[in-house]
Amino acid sequence: MNSLLAYLRKHKAEGRIVIIDDISRFSREMEGHWALRRQLKAAGGILESPSIEFGEDADSILQENVRASFAQHHRQKNAEQTRNRMRGRLLNGYWPFQASLGYKYDRREGHQGKCLVRHDPLASIIQEGLEGFASGRFQAQAEVKRFFEAHPAFPRGHRGLVRNQLVHDILTKPLYAGYIEAPTWGIPLRKGNHDALISFETFDRIQRRLKEGAKTPARADINSDFPLRGTVACACCGKLMTACWSTSRTGDRHPYYMCFGKACPQRRKSIKRDIVEHAFAKLLDRLTPGPQLVRLAAEMFKNAWSQRVAQAEAIAKNCELEARKVESQIAALVDRVVEATSEVVISAYEKRIAELERSKLLLEEKSGNTRQPKGKFEELFELALRFLANPSNLWNSGEFTQQKLVLRLTFADHLAYCPINGFSNPKTALPFKMLDVICDGANRLAGTGGFEPRDGDFEIGCSRLFERSYRTLNR
Ligand SMILES: [Zn+2]
Repeated sequence: MNSLLAYLRKHKAEGRIVIIDDISRFSREMEGHWALRRQLKAAGGILESPSIEFGEDADSILQENVRASFAQHHRQKNAEQTRNRMRGRLLNGYWPFQASLGYKYDRREGHQGKCLVRHDPLASIIQEGLEGFASGRFQAQAEVKRFFEAHPAFPRGHRGLVRNQLVHDILTKPLYAGYIEAPTWGIPLRKGNHDALISFETFDRIQRRLKEGAKTPARADINSDFPLRGTVACACCGKLMTACWSTSRTGDRHPYYMCFGKACPQRRKSIKRDIVEHAFAKLLDRLTPGPQLVRLAAEMFKNAWSQRVAQAEAIAKNCELEARKVESQIAALVDRVVEATSEVVISAYEKRIAELERSKLLLEEKSGNTRQPKGKFEELFELALRFLANPSNLWNSGEFTQQKLVLRLTFADHLAYCPINGFSNPKTALPFKMLDVICDGANRLAGTGGFEPRDGDFEIGCSRLFERSYRTLNR
């Protein structure tokens, strides 16, 4: 429109005719109609249309007013209907907005209109990213971002990077858990009619992790030349060691680890990378349990697992009961909302209802999930046990991400290294600690006639180990 006005002004002397198809195409509303009309006239344009004759007399102006008013009403009515239809779709659990990444619109049997369906490969990438963040494989949002960036199929902004905001949106969107929510439309969280990429439990865990705040992220600049950087600490002062390449007088480059702690007696004393990594390999070997111990642990785990299956039904029932309790709480609150007159009180009730709805959904999902113990048990079990039986194998693969995984799965804390005594006793992760307990117990068994490992610990540790190691080992 601006360029049209500019053109008209340029040819004001000769005058130009502007033809519009219909009055409804001219302006969105009455006010705008007359403002534009005046501007057009001032610029020397003459408005004409096949559907209406424009004139300056009272009758023509009345007719133009009526036509423009009708056009405005028609447009507003259309917008209203569209909005109502979209709200209706939302209420019925359908997403009426643009398809989110990882989804596309398609027809599905038994559903009216188009539904969101999985759109691969993005759906699988997003699923892996979300599950990875929930399980701790990615410690921070930044790691999820880098994971997405590693996939060429993932859309990115300028400079070829995935936007932080996009990653945050993906992590916080209940849509991926199979739910929809549109607060600005007055639609609280409800079950959607589309396929979920993750469970609601995983979604909830992600939200909790986001609230807790990011733990130490694996730095992007961590050079794959130094897998132990960020893990190995100076035994003297406790600071993490720095890794670097230094160039000797002859121009050769050598890899080193060293401490930069202020006032540390070991400050800037470089230690050859090979020496540190050799000591580390030995440490891992020391952690490797004997075959007998692995067999014993496997038996114990299988026992624990079958107990768990037996408990599953009880847990599911309990969840259902809890869900029903929450439901009656919601009903009671709804009654109170009806009686309440103060806006403040009503909004407080509504907030509480939304919270309760959320926990109800979680409970319902839990009761559904616990009933079917996760199917691939044997497969998961084999993979985790393979790692537990020999962490060195994965480390020796030499692949940086695998090595990082070994560090995360095996150790609970940084590893203190001293140039003289090597690595001090490490704090190991739960499954390895439990292997120790079993080992102690087994030794005592011969003498005192029985032992009990701490209830459930080993199982919990292993389930976590399974979850984390599954994807990586299964690649
Ligand atoms: Zn130091």
